[in-house]
Amino acid sequence: MLEKARTILQNHYGYDSFRKGQEEVIERILQREHAMGIMPTGGGKSICYQIPALMFPGITIVISPLISLMKDQVDELNEVGIPATYINSALEFDEVQQRLRAIRNGDIKLVYIAPERFESQMFMRALNHLSVSLVAIDEAHCLSQWGHDFRPSYLTIPHFIEQLSSPPVVLALTATATPQVTEDVCSSLNIPRENHIQTGFARENLSFHVLKGQDKEAYLLDYIEKNKDQSGIIYATTRKEVERLYEKLDEKGISVGKYHGGLTSIERAAAQEDFVYDKTPIMVATTAFGMGINKSNVRYVIHYQIPRNIETYYQEAGRAGRDGEKSECILLYSTQDIHIQHFLIEQSEMEEERKQKEYQKLQQMVNYCHTEECLQSYILSYFGDSDEHDCQRCTNCTDERETEDVTKDAQMVFSCIKRMKEQYGKTLVAQVLSGSSNQKIRVKRLDQLSTYGLMRTRTVNDISQLIDYFIAEQYIKASEGTYPVLTLQEKALPVLKGETTIRKKRAKKAKQIATYHP
Ligand code: ADP
Repeated sequence: MLEKARTILQNHYGYDSFRKGQEEVIERILQREHAMGIMPTGGGKSICYQIPALMFPGITIVISPLISLMKDQVDELNEVGIPATYINSALEFDEVQQRLRAIRNGDIKLVYIAPERFESQMFMRALNHLSVSLVAIDEAHCLSQWGHDFRPSYLTIPHFIEQLSSPPVVLALTATATPQVTEDVCSSLNIPRENHIQTGFARENLSFHVLKGQDKEAYLLDYIEKNKDQSGIIYATTRKEVERLYEKLDEKGISVGKYHGGLTSIERAAAQEDFVYDKTPIMVATTAFGMGINKSNVRYVIHYQIPRNIETYYQEAGRAGRDGEKSECILLYSTQDIHIQHFLIEQSEMEEERKQKEYQKLQQMVNYCHTEECLQSYILSYFGDSDEHDCQRCTNCTDERETEDVTKDAQMVFSCIKRMKEQYGKTLVAQVLSGSSNQKIRVKRLDQLSTYGLMRTRTVNDISQLIDYFIAEQYIKASEGTYPVLTLQEKALPVLKGETTIRKKRAKKAKQIATYHP
């Protein structure tokens, strides 16, 4: 059967061989086993359901959240001679009827729909008379409440599958899933554990950078100037910040577009098109921009503000270099931006449990900015990808500063947290250690502690940064919430007892990273 799949790959698509993961997924699907494929963006997920769709007797339903993309996907398939169609809310009633007729007549192999379709009685009735061989779920992480992009309409998918007249094979696909999200998706869809197929997340052509202590605006202008004529995306958190940056760049005569949820759909579509066709090669945008945009020559993605979690970050940064050419992913770190993300979580209408989870994810994003490990390895291990090696390209791998022993500093910080009964946040711990005498410290009599002023020669800022590092390395835990409280992790105990040592790179001077040279 796999031979036949290979022939289709060659005849219809003109490719010689399957990519990593594709063959394993297709093999399982052809054996009529449910499967989940986790592959990076651009990894070739579509072929995993398109080829079985051509081999199965019945139709294949592809569930995708993005109505705007369906037309393009279907046009592309029709061009290579694969009979496909889509049904969505943008179509007139008569058009829907006509397409349903074509499906009934057996003229169509693949039908793209958004999950909202299941609410249509007419559609569900029409399906009852059809034989559905395969249901492929794109962006399957949307099914998990713990995913970063949960869509309630996705929760109706298992019920929809049950309603079909004969049980189809189910294939879930995504580019980003933490082990918890995978677990969640697979248990909702009854996908057996041995049928999770995950190919490496590593993107060898991307280099990751975290820059701290920069004048962000000056850096951005300089970077754009040095990378003239290159296409890039600049992400900011709020619409207001996108507007501000857009004005700034536009004022300087830079050819730039903007994209955020506050613009009309016509404005957004125009901005997207100008970007894709390189009329405005630079885009300033909120996270609303990018899902499904297939622009291959994006040379850099700059996060002007910290994003809310690693999933979002990797997805957005991953829009760079889809053509396989070297590209840069740069995050400009500043503490204030974390407060904005905290505020957004706090203000959101999520349930309390979910908020706590979001705070945790944000903390892992912050840890990414403070770790001294390879940044790519950090991301990969977040996604449970065990095939890690240092990338030799990121800020940390290329940082040649010597390390120094910071065990004594760590002991002072950890004992101070302990003496403060693990009830306070980072700033207050740093203030106590530096010996500040503000009112809170006096009122709470924290100046009576034996650790008060132990690090008198250091600034509060310096000590805070040291604490950030210990959090990132999991010696200290920062609780969830707007005012995180510090507690010691198990890993801190042997340090306190003098049984292990900690090393850290020597203090940083703000430095420029190598810029892209074509
Ligand atoms: P994804 O949905 O995972 O982001 P796509 O399915 O859009 O990725 O595939 C990305 C690109 O890779 C497409 O241009 C596709 O034609 C190409 N591709 C997929 N499979 C192969 C293969 N086996 N050999 C060569 N190119 C492939």
